[in-house]
Amino acid sequence: MKDVSEGAKPRKLLVLYGSQTGTAQDAAQRIWREAKARGFTCRVTALDDYPVANLIHEPLVVFVCSTAGDGDPPDNMKIFWRFIFRKHLPANSLAQITYAVLGLGDSSYEKFNFVAKKLSKRLSQLGACSLLLLGLADEQHEFGSDAIIDPWLLQFWGRIMENLPLDEQNRLNKNDTLLPASYRLHYMDSGITVKESGNPEYETSSKTQSQLPTFLASMISNERVTVEDHFQDVRLIKFDIYNSGLQFRAGDVVLIQPSNLPSMVEEFCSLLKLHPNKLFILEQNYEELPLPALPRPCSLHYLLEHVLDISRVPRRSFFQLLSRISCHTDERERLIELSEPTGLDDLYSYCNRPRRTTLEVLQDFPHTAAGLSIDYLFDLIPVIQPRAFSIASSPLVFPDELHILVAVVQYKTKLFRPRRGLCSSWLASLDPTKDPIHIPLQIRPGSFSFPNGPTPIIMVGPGTGVVPFRAALQERQAQNKTENVLFFGCRNCLADFHFQHDWEEAVDRGFLKIFTAFSRDQEQKVYVQHKLLENSKVIWELLSKKEACFYIAGNAQQMPNDVLNALRRVVEKEGGLSKEEARRMVSGLQDSKRLQQETWS
Ligand code: NAP
Repeated sequence: MKDVSEGAKPRKLLVLYGSQTGTAQDAAQRIWREAKARGFTCRVTALDDYPVANLIHEPLVVFVCSTAGDGDPPDNMKIFWRFIFRKHLPANSLAQITYAVLGLGDSSYEKFNFVAKKLSKRLSQLGACSLLLLGLADEQHEFGSDAIIDPWLLQFWGRIMENLPLDEQNRLNKNDTLLPASYRLHYMDSGITVKESGNPEYETSSKTQSQLPTFLASMISNERVTVEDHFQDVRLIKFDIYNSGLQFRAGDVVLIQPSNLPSMVEEFCSLLKLHPNKLFILEQNYEELPLPALPRPCSLHYLLEHVLDISRVPRRSFFQLLSRISCHTDERERLIELSEPTGLDDLYSYCNRPRRTTLEVLQDFPHTAAGLSIDYLFDLIPVIQPRAFSIASSPLVFPDELHILVAVVQYKTKLFRPRRGLCSSWLASLDPTKDPIHIPLQIRPGSFSFPNGPTPIIMVGPGTGVVPFRAALQERQAQNKTENVLFFGCRNCLADFHFQHDWEEAVDRGFLKIFTAFSRDQEQKVYVQHKLLENSKVIWELLSKKEACFYIAGNAQQMPNDVLNALRRVVEKEGGLSKEEARRMVSGLQDSKRLQQETWS
C-alpha cells in the first residue's frame, strides 16, 4: 500500500462510479461531499463519462462500483470495463495512481461484489497502488450497506489525512459545517404557462441520465392475472411500440421510470409548505456536479412527482445532513443520535426494519421539515431510478407490442400503512381504459442470452421468474426450434399459473415439455427442484447428448442454490459421477455460459 505523500502533494481526488440503480452513485457523491469538506479538489463522475486516457494524470482515484445481475458491470461502466481488460495494456501503465475500491453488492447473489473484486485485482496488475483494502458493502447486512461503508470511509480518510493533513482553513470546514447545497433552485416569476398535467412547457437541461434511446409508449392494457382472492396482485401490462424503432430479443429488459403517487406529493408539499405550481430553474453550485435532467423551467410538482424518490427508505447520510440543517433543538438531537455510527442499531429499528419512507421520516420531524431550505432537497433525496423488468414477449410474434408481468409489491411492517413498491404500485394504479397513458421505455440487454442455433434449452422459472422464458419460447417457436423444456412453480394451479394458456398452446404444437410444481396445492411443499430430480433422465439426456443450455430465473433467496444442488444430484445420478465431478461439471456449465442465472432479491 502506498504512501500518498510521495512526490508532490496535490489535494486532488477523483471519484468514479459504476452504478445500476443509483446506490453506488449515492455513495460516490457522499465521498465527493466529504472530500470537499476536507479541502480537496474533487470530481465525481460515472466511469463511462470519464475520458479514460486521462487516468494516468490522476494522483488519487476512488472507484465505487456495484455488481449487476450475474456478476456484470453496471451499464454506465461497460466501456471502461472493456478498456481496462484489454489484453495489451502495459503492465505498469497505472503505476502513478493510488486507488481505493468500494464495492456495493448483495451477498444473496452468487457473484457477490464480483465487479469490485475483479477491478481491484486488475488495477493492481496494471501497477496502481492500493491505498487500503477493498470495501465490500453488503445490502444483506442487518444494518444495510452503511454498516460496511462507514468504517471503510473512516479508514480511507484516516489514510489520506495522515499524509495530507488539513490546513487551518480546511480544519474549520471539516467539522460538521454545512456545505452549500449541490444545486440552487432559482424561482421564476409568474407568467410561464403550466400545462394541465402540471408540467411546464420545457426544454430539458443538457445532460440526460442515459444514452439509451427512449420511446414514449402507450399502455394498451393492464390486466390482473392472478385470481381475485389470491394474496398477490400480478399484472400483465402491454405497451404499443408501433414505429418505435426499439429493438430487443428474448432475455432483454425494459427500463421504466416510475413516479410518486399524487397523494404522497400532496402530503410532501403541505409538510414543507410548498406551492406545487411554483416554477424554478435548477442551477449548479459546483461545476463538477452535473445537472440532473429536468425540464427548464420545472414545477415543484413535477420535481416531487417524477424526480425525487420521496418514498424510499432514507440512508444514514440523510439523517446526518438533516441534523446539520435542523434548527429545532429536540429534533436535531434525535437526528444526531440516528446519524452517529453508534446509532446504527437505533436507526435500523426506526427506519430500515419498518421500511419508513423519506416522507414519513420528515413527518416525524415536522419543525425541521417546515424550515427546510428547498435547495437541499437534491442532497437529501436521491432521484428516482428506473426499474428493470424482464420482457415477456418477442417481437417475432408481437412486432408492435412489448409485454411485462409485474408482481405488485405490498407487505406489512409494524407501521400502520402497508408498504408498497414504488414502481409496481404506480404501474398497477394506471388504467388505460380511463385515460390514455404514455410511459417512456428504454431497452437494455438482460443477463440471459439464448442460443442462436437449434440447441435445446432447459428453463427453470418459479413465479414471475418465468417471464423471460415466455419471450424465449415465442422467439424459438417463430424460429421453429422445438426442444424447449420448462420447469415452472407457483402456489396454486388455479390462482397464479402465469401464462398457462401460452404453455398449453406450445405443448399442443410440439414446442414445449413443461413440468409444474404447485407448492401449496397439497400438504407437502413441492418445488421446481423436486421436479428436476423426478425428471433427471430428461435433463441428463439434453445436457449430455445435445449440449443443452440451462437457465434459472427468479427470487435470489434460496431457490437458485436449491436448483443448482438438484442439478448436481441429477448429473451425479444419471452420469454416474462422484460428488466432486458433478460439482465440477456444473461449474463448467456456468463458466461456459451454458448455465445462466437471472435472479433478484
Ligand atoms: P416467489 O415468491 O419466488 O414464489 C414462486 C414459487 O416458488 C412459489 O410457489 C414458492 O412457494 C416457490 N418457492 C419458495 N421457495 C422456494 C425455493 N427455495 N425453491 C424453489 N421454489 C421456491 O415468486 P413470485 O411469487 O413471483 O414473487 C417474487 C417477488 O419478487 C415478488 O414480490 C416480486 O415483486 C419480486 N420481484 C420480481 C421481479 C421480477 O422481475 N419478476 C423483480 C424484483 C422483485 P411457497 O411460497 O409456497 O413457498
